[in-house]
Formats: sequence, C-alpha cells, structure tokens
Amino acid sequence: MTSRRLLARLWRDYLRAHRLGMAVALALMVIEGSTLALLSYALEPLFDRVFVGGELGAIWVIGGFILSLFLVRAVTLVASRTMLTAIAQRTSAAMQVDLLRHILTLDGGFFQVNPPGQLIERVQGDTAAVQGVWSLLITGVGRDSVSLVALTVVAVSVDPVWAAFAVVGTPLLILPALAVQRYIRRKVAQLREQAGRRATRLDEIFHGITAIKLNRIENYQLGRFTRIVASIVSAETKSTASRVTVPAMIDIVTGIGFFTVIIFGGGEIARGERTVGEFMAFFSAMTLAFQPLRRLGDMAGQWQTAAVSLRRIYGLLDRAPVVQSHPAAPTHLALADTGLRFESVSLSYGEHAVLRGVSFTAEPGRTTALVGPSGAGKSTIFNLLTRLVDPQSGRIELGGQDIRDVDLDHLRDQFSVVSQESSLFDETIRENILLGRDDISPEALARALAAAHVTEFVDTLPLGLETPAGPRGSALSGGQRQRVAIARAILRDAPILLLDEATSALDATSERLVQDALDRLSEGRTTLVIAHRLATVRNADKIVVLDHGRVVEEGTHDALLAKGGLYAGLCRLQFTE
Ligand code: ADP
Repeated sequence: MTSRRLLARLWRDYLRAHRLGMAVALALMVIEGSTLALLSYALEPLFDRVFVGGELGAIWVIGGFILSLFLVRAVTLVASRTMLTAIAQRTSAAMQVDLLRHILTLDGGFFQVNPPGQLIERVQGDTAAVQGVWSLLITGVGRDSVSLVALTVVAVSVDPVWAAFAVVGTPLLILPALAVQRYIRRKVAQLREQAGRRATRLDEIFHGITAIKLNRIENYQLGRFTRIVASIVSAETKSTASRVTVPAMIDIVTGIGFFTVIIFGGGEIARGERTVGEFMAFFSAMTLAFQPLRRLGDMAGQWQTAAVSLRRIYGLLDRAPVVQSHPAAPTHLALADTGLRFESVSLSYGEHAVLRGVSFTAEPGRTTALVGPSGAGKSTIFNLLTRLVDPQSGRIELGGQDIRDVDLDHLRDQFSVVSQESSLFDETIRENILLGRDDISPEALARALAAAHVTEFVDTLPLGLETPAGPRGSALSGGQRQRVAIARAILRDAPILLLDEATSALDATSERLVQDALDRLSEGRTTLVIAHRLATVRNADKIVVLDHGRVVEEGTHDALLAKGGLYAGLCRLQFTE
C-alpha cells in the first residue's frame, strides 16, 4: 500500500470520527505557531525605537505584547497537547479492539503460522508505533509549517536579499532526504519483525518454564533471546541514525545560511545601510525557524516508521478467515437430529495426509468410541466437526445437513467438548465454569457442580468457588480440571458431546468421580469419545477403529475382539481397567 492509500484508509477508519477535535487542535497549533513570528517581529521596534531611538514609553507596550505571546503559547500548548493525546489514545485503542475482534474470527491455519507472541506484538507494538503519528502530522502541518511560513514572511519583509542568502544551501537537502526513506523503511520492517520474534520467545519461555528448568536449558533460551534483542538494538540504532541525518543536514544548511547572512548583512549594518533592529528581527526569525524546520525534516522519516506498522496492521485486518459461515446459511437451521456422518473425508496439512477418505456414522443419542494408535487422526475428527479446520474433500453431516451449510456459531452451539487440555483461564473456579454467562440460577449452578463432582473438592478450599484456578488452571489437579470442564459442559447443555478421555492416570477416587460425572453427562446425548479406558469401549454402542487416517474396523467391543484384528491387538496393549 502506498503512503497515500494508507493515509486515506487511516482517515476513513479511525481519524474521520475525530475530525472536529483535530480541527480544533490544528487551529490551536496555528495560533501557537504564529506566536514565534510575532515574537521575532516585535524585536525590530524593541531595538530601533526603544534601545536606539530612546522611546522609553514603548517599552511597556512591547514588553507586555511579548509577555502575552508567551501566555497564549502556554494555553495553546496544554489544550492542543491534551486533545491530540486523547485522539491518539482513542484511535489506538479502537485499532487494538478491531485487531483483536478480527483475530478472533481467524482459524486454525492462521494460528498455526502466527504464534501468540507475533500477534501480541501486532496488537500492542504496532498500534503503539502508529499511535503518535497523527499527532506528529497535525503538529507538523499546524504548528511547524505555520511557524515556518510566518517566520519566512518576517524575514522576507525585513530583507528579501538576506532571505535569499539564508536559503542558498537548501537544494543540498533533497537527495539525501529521499535516499534515507527507503533505508528507514527496510530497517523498521526488520525491527518490527524482530520485536514479534522477541514476544514469541518470551511467550514460549514463560509457558514452558517447567520444561526449561527440568531440561536445564536456561542458558540456551537466554542465548536465543540475547541474539534477538541484539538485532533489535542494531536495527533500531541504524534506523534512528539514518532518520536523523535529515535534520542533521538541515543543521548544516542552516549553518551555511547563517554564515552567508552574517557576512553580507553584517557588512551592511557596519556601514550603516541597515539598522541593528532589522538585523535582530531577521536573525531571530532565522533562529526560531530552525527548530520547526528540523522537526519537519524529521517528519518523513517518522511517517515511514509508522507506515511500516500500519501496513502490518492492515495486512492482518485484510486477512479473511478460511473457515467461514456459508453466506446464505440461516442462523437457526432446523436439524433433523444430532446424528453425525463422515463421508469420504480427507484432510492433509501440507504434504502430510492426516485423514484419507474417512467414512462413519454416529447415531443420535448413542455413544460412539474412536479408537486407534496415537496420530491416527482421532482429535482431527473433533476439529473437523467443530470446523476449527475444513477438509480438502468429502462431506460431514450433522442431522442430515452438510455442516458447511450451517451457520458457524449455530454449529458450535451443538457441541460440548471435554478434553484433556480443556483450557482453564487464570480466573476463579466460578468464572471458569460460568464463562461469562449470567443466565444461570444458583440452583442450576449447584446442581451442575454436584453432578460434575466439583462440590467435593471446592468445599475443601478456603475460598471455595472463588479460588483462582491459576495460569492455565495450574492451581488445580488433573482430575479437578476435568471435573471443572465437565461442569462447564453440563451448563452448556449442548446436544452433542465430544469427549477426549484422559490418558494420564488419575487416582482411583478421582477416576471414579470423573467417570461417574461423564456417564451422567453423556446420557441421552450423541457422544463421540476418544477412548482410553476399557469400560468406555465396552459400553460404547459402536467402536470406530482408525489407523493412519483410515477407518480400518467398525463394530461393538465383543464383535471386534472376536475378529482378532487391530482392535483386538490394541485392546491388549492400550486399555487399562
Ligand atoms: P490422534 O488424536 O489420533 O492422536 P491427531 O488427530 O491429533 O491424532 O493427529 C493426526 C495427525 O495429524 C498427526 O500425525 C499429527 O501430527 C497431525 N496434525 C494434527 N494437527 C496438525 C496441525 N495443525 N498441523 C500439522 N499436522 C497436524
């Protein structure tokens, strides 16, 4: 995207809503900018009428005028800065919310290649990098360019020839200013990329803290992190160094201007052709023009820096989710029943075929067990049903409807998923169970807690339901986490249960409690269970055996045992009582 298109989009999406505030801030800036010119303009009468001419009466008028200029500056400074900060903060907050809203619509494939750290950096780092830019532009356009124009008017009115001398060096600026832009863009892009990698490293380190300590790879991780921050330092230093070459060139050009004016103007004053007051007014206008000019020179570079982040932000916002509701999908499609049906479903990740023509059915209200060696594709079937990912070919039906024709939210409402890694948030147990719902009566909650056997352990905790679950539920045991997940599912009351039984052994009591809770939960629901326990497969209405992404056997426990195939072998090895 070109800078012009970026600015146009920025204006349309975020800035137009603040146009009134920006106009006021701009007006304040114009006032602030013009005070400098008035100040230098006041020096001429001060010198010529008061100091040289001896008009002592005028001293009060001129002094009072200069004082009031500074008072005006003070007021406009506070007012304009406050307004600009508020606008910058609000637009950046709106951007952050938009980014998160959009990221939440994206699917598995996206998160596979965009780790959390990168995304955190987009939402926080890039919006922060963009945040200051419109204040900068307004300050530039408003205050600095107005100062510059007004001061030039003063300088030219004093002596056009001197003014021409003052700008002799300016053409020297053009080429370096252009050359520097591209270099800045490249360095800043590197910088943002590395900042994303830094956030990803940190995220992985803190999430994997136990593994890092147990494997004693602190130094290894520290080394990787050090290299990333070193490259950030280098990119940041280089981009800033190149950026400031433009204001630095302005210094040199201004120096040449000063030099020329002193040599020519100084002679004229010594010969009495011009007054000291004129020279002072001119010279102060030049001096005062120097800072705004420098800032304006820096603006292009600052814009490049912000533009890199803006491109990254819009790149993300323009990315459409792959898994989407069918545009014509009615939000509440009537489903004949809750039976599930896979028909020649194939899915691969890149070259890696995960499911190859899987077909099976799960009868409504019954329990179907998925069995197979690890990596066979069992969890993938869950992901396909809930459309976290779509298959490359084949058809998946729910109640006789292709799930791609069902509205995505409506589809997901049909499922409760209880799995080993049912994510718990770092909130209280109550919040983890209610998940923001406020339509649950205390009695319904108590019933769910009892049915999920959560009551037993919650009652022993000093804070009860208000006990924090810790990051990722780490303050609870495996069995407790599962029971919390079951309580969630009971309240969710979805017609279909997708259950991934824990492989990790629970102690006998927990095991019994969890099993009992699960049995109650699956009662009357269409249940698809990734089975790891003998009791589960024995009681299942049907067992589907998967191997290398194919359905290899189907039937009841007894029938499959009698057959003596893969299932019979797995049974001996895998299932524990
Ligand atoms: P199971 O649940 O039977 O153990 P999965 O369905 O989890 O097996 O995985 C089946 C295969 O798909 C595995 O070989 C796994 O490596 C691969 N797989 C699963 N998810 C992804 C993914 N997001 N990207 C690449 N490969 C994946």
